[in-house]
This record gives sequence, structure tokens and C-alpha cells, in this order.
Amino acid sequence: MALLPVRIYGDPVLRTKSEPIREVDDSHLSLALDMLETMRHEEGIGLAAVQIGRPIRMLVADVGDRAPKGAPKIFINPEIVEASGEWTFDEGCLSVPGITAEIVRPKRIRLRFTDGKGEGREEVFDELLARVLQHEIDHLNGTLFVDHLEEVERAAIWKQLLELEKESRRRAPATR
Ligand SMILES: [Zn+2]
Repeated sequence: MALLPVRIYGDPVLRTKSEPIREVDDSHLSLALDMLETMRHEEGIGLAAVQIGRPIRMLVADVGDRAPKGAPKIFINPEIVEASGEWTFDEGCLSVPGITAEIVRPKRIRLRFTDGKGEGREEVFDELLARVLQHEIDHLNGTLFVDHLEEVERAAIWKQLLELEKESRRRAPATR
């Protein structure tokens, strides 16, 4: 397994729409394991493939004790088929380090996805895991959590975002 560099706000890959995975093979599983290792190393609870520079529709999530035992950790081609409730939660993102913000999202989702074994599944998730899944699915569509903020709230963090963009450019092309 290997740790992978996480792309930071300002990196154009974070704004691309990730491509569906047509056939799941061992290379996807091996990438997912690297992503899980990277996510844990960075002390995150979710990571989308695009965040390590691979714009394909795969994400990993692990919220530990806050999900039912045996909850899946690898999600391929995830699609929200139903959403309900409303929950405000202070979100952060490994690609937007140092910034958190309260975001309102549905509390419960029904998700259609392919798991790490290549099996098609449909399951209901709620609370923290549902939150992480929605945040990561946003990544697959080129959306970041700060995009959900109102103009006034964004204004409060624009300087920090600008600094991240600069940092992202400074790192390029080494990590791109
Ligand atoms: Zn994120």
C-alpha cells in the first residue's frame, strides 16, 4: 500500500467531473486500499479518488463507531436515489485544509453503488456516514463544500481560500 498526495483547493482536477467506472477490477481495489490508508494517515473520514488526482467515480469512507458495524468503506459509481431530513454539521475537507463551515444537507440518503467486491448494492445511510457520502459525491461532480456557502459566509474565508490556491500552485507541477 502507499500514501498518495492529496490535491489542494485551486488544483483544477478538483473541478473536473469524474468518469463512471465501467468494470471494477483489481486495480480499483488496490487504489481504494491506498486511498483508505491515505485518508487514515491524514485523519480524514472520507476521500474521493479525484482528491488524489484520479477523476473516476470512486470514494472511500470510514466513520468508525459512528456507522453500523460492517458498513461498507468502498463506494463505486455511487448514486443518491432518495434523500430526506435536514441536518447542519460543521464540515471540513482534506483538500481545503484549515477551513471548516456549517453546511446543511439531508440527514438520510438511499444510495445505489457498487462495493469493493464489485457487487451492486442499494442501502440507506444516515447521520455522519450519510454526510460524508454526500460530501464525497460532491467531489465526484467537481463541487467543494465551500461552494454550498452563502456569499457572506464565503467572503469570510476568501483570504484563506486564496492562500490555499497559492499553495496549490506552489506545489505544482511536483504533485500533478
Ligand atoms: Zn472533501
